[in-house]
Amino acid sequence: MNYHIMTLFPELISSYMDMSILGRASENGIISYQAINIRDYSTDKHHKVDDYPYGGGPGMVMQAQPIYDAWSDIVSEMQEKPRCIYLTPQGKTFNQDMAKELAKEKDLIFLCGHYEGVDERVLNEIVTDPISAGDFVLTGGELPALMMIDAISRMIPGVLGNADSGEGESFENGLLEYPQYSRPECWNGKAVPEVLLSGDHEKISQWRREESLKRTCQMRPDLLKEAMLTHEEIARIIGHKSAD
Ligand code: SAM
Repeated sequence: MNYHIMTLFPELISSYMDMSILGRASENGIISYQAINIRDYSTDKHHKVDDYPYGGGPGMVMQAQPIYDAWSDIVSEMQEKPRCIYLTPQGKTFNQDMAKELAKEKDLIFLCGHYEGVDERVLNEIVTDPISAGDFVLTGGELPALMMIDAISRMIPGVLGNADSGEGESFENGLLEYPQYSRPECWNGKAVPEVLLSGDHEKISQWRREESLKRTCQMRPDLLKEAMLTHEEIARIIGHKSAD
C-alpha cells in the first residue's frame, strides 16, 4: 500500500508514520508513504495557499490551485487514478469495515484540510471519498488521516506480527472484544478471572465469547443488529432484556 498525503504540515505525518508498528511496516516495504507539502505547489510569490471566502464570513479557505497541482503531480505517472479521500466532518463516519475495504487498494490519496476548509471546486474535481473522524470539528485533517492510515494498515497482511494479530478484536463479527489481563495474577487486591489461568482453551474461549456479548450489550447494543450470534445467544439477550 502506498499512501500519498497532501498536507500543509508534512512533519505531523512523518512524526507518526516513522514510529512503532507503522514505522516497521515501512522499513519492511509493506507500506510506503509520501507527505506532500501543498505549499510547494503554490504559484503565489509568497507561497500563499489560502484566501478569504467569497460571500464573507470568518476564517480563510484553502485555494484550489495548489491542491489540484499537488494531486496532478501524484497521479501523473499512474495508470489509474487512486481513490482520493478528503478528511471532513461532513463525510461518512469512518469505521472498521471501511478500513478493511480500503486496505485492498494499492494506492490511496489523502487530502488534509485546514482553516475553514477547501474550495469546493477542487473537491468536486479530485475527491472520491469524503470521510469524517466523527461528529466534532478539528483544526485540520492530519489527525483523522493518520487515524485512518493506522486502522487501514493494521488490516494489511504482514503489518501486524503474529503476536499482535487483529483476530478477535472489537468489531470482528460485530462484537466488542472481551476484557484482557496480564501479570501479576493479583493486582491491587483484584485477581485475574480464574478461568484464564485454567489452561482449558475451550472454557477460556466460551468465557471470552460471553464477556464479549455482555460488553457489547452494555456499551454498544447498536452493534448487535449486525453481530453473528447463535440462536441461543439471541434468546439469552432477549431474555435479559425482558428481565430488565
Ligand atoms: N468549516 C468546516 C465545516 O464546518 O465543515 C470545518 C473545517 S475544519 C476547522 C478544518 C479541516 O479540518 C477540514 O477541512 C478537515 O480537513 C479537518 N477536519 C475537521 N474536523 C474533522 C473531522 N471530524 N473529520 C475529518 N476531518 C476533519
